Amino acid sequence: YYNHDTVVYLNRKMVKATEANGNLYSQTLQYGYGVFEGIRSYATEHGPSIFKAKEHYERLKKSCDLIHIQLDYSVEELVEASYKVLAQNNLQDAYLRPVVYLDPNMSLSKPTGVNLLITAWEWGAYLGDKMLNLCTSPYQRPNPKSVHVEAKVTGHYINSILATVHAKENGYDEALLLDAAGFVAEGPGANLFMEKDGKLFTPALGNILPGITRATVLEMCAELGLRCEEKQFTPEELKTADSAFYCGTAAEIIGIAQLDNYRFPLDWSESLGKKLQEHYSKLVRQPQPELVSNEQ
Ligand code: PMP
Repeated sequence: YYNHDTVVYLNRKMVKATEANGNLYSQTLQYGYGVFEGIRSYATEHGPSIFKAKEHYERLKKSCDLIHIQLDYSVEELVEASYKVLAQNNLQDAYLRPVVYLDPNMSLSKPTGVNLLITAWEWGAYLGDKMLNLCTSPYQRPNPKSVHVEAKVTGHYINSILATVHAKENGYDEALLLDAAGFVAEGPGANLFMEKDGKLFTPALGNILPGITRATVLEMCAELGLRCEEKQFTPEELKTADSAFYCGTAAEIIGIAQLDNYRFPLDWSESLGKKLQEHYSKLVRQPQPELVSNEQ
């Protein structure tokens, strides 16, 4: 993720990664009380273009608001800082990881001080490019009555780690998590879509992270005239679907071959997922409008 030349953005300054230090008494280290984002940039003829940068930083700010972290940065400042991190590290196709972490504080109280770090590195397809074999996880997504599931909180990712390790130790590529009521929720780091009789379905908001890629897929469906509905469905219903895929910033769009012992019957090359995958890979490589207008 970093070497001796890597620079990071830390509290409004560019500093060497090897010289940037955190504090062991941080509330984030002690309690998992922090917020983060995962963002991708793509090489374009106008230089690196950060896909949906504004949407990601809006979600970062919203996540902070939901858990009482006061983040005094505007979306514009955060986007600008992100481009600076890419430029100073000579990165084009890259993954950006902003994290909001807190000052030393051992009490279960609101933060005493807030820090913002943005790192970036080159990162290939997070779930690879092969169709995935999933297992229904024994770990549920966190109950929305216990935490704010719609916030991208550092501590929530213990749930994602447990589900992923369990899936891999049992010979699967990835997990599928259900919500507290037993409906299909999402993957450890991706949202799910299924295709049935030429129509797409994705779990409704409420028990999942509102993915930026999920929202992009919904936009692409509208644009391409594909039918798509947000609703609750059970794992049993999912096991009658023709095809399914995961989507996320890191994973992009990736087909699912099998869930437990159910193989999705529709060939990926014929699926709506494949059509969306191709469209997405073009869309992310179109320079964002601010890049094009900056050069004029
Ligand atoms: N669900 C979870 C639990 C995630 O961690 C992610 C990755 N941020 C997603 C869904 C997909 O979200 P996005 O498309 O915004 O990356």
